[in-house]
Amino acid sequence: MTVMDPQKLAASRERLLERKRKLWQEVKNQIKTGLGESYQDLLSTVRDNEDQALANLLEETQFSLIEPKRQELMAIEEALIRMDHGTYGFCEDCGAPIEPRRLEIMPQTSLCRECQALREKVAKAGGR
Ligand SMILES: [Zn+2]
Repeated sequence: MTVMDPQKLAASRERLLERKRKLWQEVKNQIKTGLGESYQDLLSTVRDNEDQALANLLEETQFSLIEPKRQELMAIEEALIRMDHGTYGFCEDCGAPIEPRRLEIMPQTSLCRECQALREKVAKAGGR
């Protein structure tokens, strides 16, 4: 297995963390403005280890408004874990290195372009 350039990897991690911070901020703002005082109370009680508490809160609640952000946050979290395990940058399905250009555009991706296209095709064909 080829190891990614440590400098590139560090840069990708920085971008992921940055994106994660931004997403959390947006999600928090949406919760605050969208859900009123009961959630503000809840949020003020969870100031310690905020992320974890909020993650639990999000798991229990389905806000369609923030669902795409929640999914992206989960993808970022998984990407960071893959970095720790040294499997970042490789396709989850076929194991091939993910195109560097693709990683630049969406550093949280876990699939190469072909496998992503395949999944989307399957999802469409399968319907809901
Ligand atoms: Zn693949």
